[in-house]
Amino acid sequence: MSNTSAMSAVSMVRNQTRICTVGHAPRARLPRGSGGVHPVKIGGGNHIVLQTMAKQKTFEGLLKEIRSAEKCGAEMIRLAVPSATAAKILGRLKEKVTIPLVADIHFDPLLALAALENGADKIRINPGNFLDEKMLEKVLAAAARSGAAIRIGVNAGSLEKDLWEKYGAPNADALAESAKRWTNKVEKFGFQNFVVSLKSSRAAVMIEAYKKFAAMCPHVPLHLGVTEAGPGISGAVKCAVGIGSLLSLGIGNTIRVSTSGPIEEEIRIGKEILKSLGLYSLEPDLISCPGCGRAEVDINKLAKEVQKIICGINKPLRIAVMGCAVNALGEAREADFAIAGGKKCGALFMNGKLYASAVPEKELLKEFRKMLEENI
Ligand code: SF4
Repeated sequence: MSNTSAMSAVSMVRNQTRICTVGHAPRARLPRGSGGVHPVKIGGGNHIVLQTMAKQKTFEGLLKEIRSAEKCGAEMIRLAVPSATAAKILGRLKEKVTIPLVADIHFDPLLALAALENGADKIRINPGNFLDEKMLEKVLAAAARSGAAIRIGVNAGSLEKDLWEKYGAPNADALAESAKRWTNKVEKFGFQNFVVSLKSSRAAVMIEAYKKFAAMCPHVPLHLGVTEAGPGISGAVKCAVGIGSLLSLGIGNTIRVSTSGPIEEEIRIGKEILKSLGLYSLEPDLISCPGCGRAEVDINKLAKEVQKIICGINKPLRIAVMGCAVNALGEAREADFAIAGGKKCGALFMNGKLYASAVPEKELLKEFRKMLEENI
């Protein structure tokens, strides 16, 4: 399948899903000039929503983190709500920020109600530790009243006991059955504004689980994630494999990368996953060669400097940095802007055509920046 037809297949499947809307009408307490709430739509033909989860606990720490996450490109942020105090902090945060806030609830359904009273835009409930169906009905009724969304967040680490016993492990079938069971319960109450996730720390298991559930309930928007993916490169690779594999099949409507690292790093990884599939349009995609014995310029330095130069450009440009002529012409032809290294010099390309040749290596970055400034 060609790239284009693969992507249209992706859009086709996404278009089949129902839309979940997160973020409701501005509360009276929002500060003047805050711009109001911009609801985020998940599913249908909408773009893949990039979200993250805060790691701080205090009001000040959370406010700083939320603002940083928003600046980095997150479109909604989840906060742990393990206590009534945390629910109140969420309420205070709602007075300061307009990005939708999601309350992460485990064990105590009353905290879901408290979070909704404090303005939560969405509630994540975990079927494995949210067993009371009467309370589920109350939470859904409160969410419906306030216009909040729900995520049924199935997790391999907290699968329901009967499914553990039935399957002997939190495998893909067990996760899919749990998700289907809770989808049925939520739909039985007539509630439709929800998404589902089926997370495992094993990318292979979560891929299979999402595929199975997507086949069972193609109308339900899906939140993708590999849970507890780990730190740094290993976490990033697991998330890219899990989330990326599903997105490439047209499965998934919102993503969260969960690594043991700063929130900004998680968002960065999420953006790169989306960019690698052509699903992110607010930043350039940088292509750079790894360098080899043919390179006569410092390709690593060049690529890092170009990355700094293009930081802040919010257009889906394709930018290539190549060490020599071997693949440079092909990449340059496909790129909006490109640099190709030569013997202690380089050539610049724009829209696939030669823009300047034999630019001395020490002038390359300056001339590249000038080309961008004059032509974007
Ligand atoms: S583009 Fe040239 S320098 Fe870069 S990896 Fe390929 S052959 Fe080596």
